[in-house]
Amino acid sequence: MSEETQKIRIVFDEAKCIGSAACFKANPNVFGFDEKRQTAILLNGKKANERVFETIISGDAQRIKSATDAAASCPVNAFVVTSLDSGKTIVSDTINGNSAPTLHAVYDDQKDFILDDKGYFLIRVNYNMKEIEVGFCNEKNNVVVKVVGKMPIGIYHTIATKTNLELRKEHYAYLGRELEKAYHCLMTNLEYVQDDELHEMKKRKV
Ligand code: SF4
Repeated sequence: MSEETQKIRIVFDEAKCIGSAACFKANPNVFGFDEKRQTAILLNGKKANERVFETIISGDAQRIKSATDAAASCPVNAFVVTSLDSGKTIVSDTINGNSAPTLHAVYDDQKDFILDDKGYFLIRVNYNMKEIEVGFCNEKNNVVVKVVGKMPIGIYHTIATKTNLELRKEHYAYLGRELEKAYHCLMTNLEYVQDDELHEMKKRKV
């Protein structure tokens, strides 16, 4: 007796793809890889939306499992797989974390802010040079480390790995947050003010 045919829908959000090729390596019959663009391809996929593709796969349990496992191997949850037999989502594009507990984000500026006794950052945008400048002060305005760069990732990576500041974890997170704001201001010609929220920043007068 032949095994029952199963059917799934795979939806691929190409915008999420970081080109790891995990899906393609796991199942080259369902997924392809565009070497030039370094993104996955959903073979026989139809465009459902801007950069979103979908396909229906049917077959025996082994074929369905192979396609599902390959989609689930995506490190950035670029696929949603739905069983068309049960209607259930088998692979989700949310971070499910299996049995990991979910913590709900909380922050109280009065109670949770702890000043790093190692010092503080000064962050400036150099609009002429199109650069972000970061100084770390161990005491009032005494800069002990200065890093200049065009992109947040290069700056925080340099500070985290090429200096021996050994700051509190939250302080590194703060730096990343401020650098992204500074970069956004540089790109959109807003006047960057350290610690202000983006929506409070004004257009630069040139
Ligand atoms: S596994 Fe995910 S990130 Fe990697 S190529 Fe496939 S879709 Fe892209």
